[in-house]
Amino acid sequence: MKIAFIGLGAMGFPMAGHLAKKHEVTVWNRTAEKAAKHASEHGSKHAKTLAECAGAELVFTMLPSSAEVDAIVAELGPKLSRGTLWIDTTSGDPEVSRVTAKRLAAQGIDFLDAPVTGAIVGATNATLSIMVGGTAEAFARAKPVLEITGKKIIHAGDSGAGHAIKALTNSIMGATVWITAECLLLAKRYGIDPRTALEITNAGSGRSNASENLLPLRLAEKQWPLVFKLALHDKDIRIAAAMSHREHMSTPLLNLTTSLFSGALHQLGDNADYIEVAKLVAAMNGDEW
Ligand code: NDP
Repeated sequence: MKIAFIGLGAMGFPMAGHLAKKHEVTVWNRTAEKAAKHASEHGSKHAKTLAECAGAELVFTMLPSSAEVDAIVAELGPKLSRGTLWIDTTSGDPEVSRVTAKRLAAQGIDFLDAPVTGAIVGATNATLSIMVGGTAEAFARAKPVLEITGKKIIHAGDSGAGHAIKALTNSIMGATVWITAECLLLAKRYGIDPRTALEITNAGSGRSNASENLLPLRLAEKQWPLVFKLALHDKDIRIAAAMSHREHMSTPLLNLTTSLFSGALHQLGDNADYIEVAKLVAAMNGDEW
């Protein structure tokens, strides 16, 4: 199958690599050097212009947000043939993706919002979980291809459902990281070593992905790798807060989480990793890990 893959960032680069093992993949990236590197490492074809992606039967986008996807849809969409399937794996905005799906449907193009979870390691090992919004027919078409990059592929519902649940699940993670960091800092004040506090947390009811997988490396090993930009996490939580606002719902904890992450982004900057909010929790208390 002819596939075009647009957006070779931390996630897109390895995902497009897996697809290139089984399909004829053309890659386009804003910074062209990355596309050239992909072509030489994975045998994909480097598209120098977006128009060169027009022959694809399937288009993937993996960009920061729906704003960048929208711009690509505006430029490439009119050049695509009827029957093309567009899979947007960006963690985007469900309201925008619903509009995009309608716009492309009018041209005979199916659009699925299909964000992923599992981090860079999941993209590298093709073990991502992928949550999909769109029609059952389009989902059935996409599933065999998505199975090349992911392990668990779930049809979440109609158009927008994939992006909605992705924003919500990342919000759960954000709030969990923050409260876990606060409580571990308090434990430290009580003379409990963070390693011991984590071991006890993970043996009991406070355990989570944050305590089991994310915080031990940072708090115990003192390593703070950049795996997921805080700016992208902040975007996801703001999408969830906007969903709540639109539904006129009372979600005080979600609103507080939005505010904490926006504040953290201003303090830590665009290139911070999302788990660095734990550093801020310590700094807010005149402490460090
Ligand atoms: P990166 O910042 O590593 O990559 C972003 C990609 O988008 C790059 O290819 C970049 O091109 C391109 N891009 C940025 N702005 C534009 C633009 N205006 N026009 C065209 N292309 C643009 O992000 P990630 O790969 O980490 O994340 C991508 C998506 O996946 C995000 O929605 C994120 O929330 C989500 N995600 C990320 C995870 C992670 O652990 N990193 C995990 C799960 C989901 P260039 O090379 O030129 O900068």
